[in-house]
Amino acid sequence: MNSKNVNLGNINSGNVNLRKCVSCGRRSNKFDFIRINKVKNQDSSFEICVSNIGDRRYVEGRTAYLCSNLGCFNLAKKKSRLEKNLKCKIGSKIYDEIENFINKI
Ligand SMILES: [Zn+2]
Repeated sequence: MNSKNVNLGNINSGNVNLRKCVSCGRRSNKFDFIRINKVKNQDSSFEICVSNIGDRRYVEGRTAYLCSNLGCFNLAKKKSRLEKNLKCKIGSKIYDEIENFINKI
């Protein structure tokens, strides 16, 4: 048997709480980032939710992290980093929402 036992979580053991910005690749404590979640609805549609890490609600689905600054936001938007990361189309309404979220921080 050729078992593939790849556990990415163990590569940086001790740094398990670090998250990576999809835009600049900066790794930091997860509290430095905003979280963008793709949440599946029961009818298999989905919505994108923006939240602070401090929000401890469990969210199902894919998650992307972004530095809470407009520089990283603009780069992510320009390079479609969030779309690639979340594997879905992100409309301009969602981008507006994320931008507003960052502006409020
Ligand atoms: Zn960043």
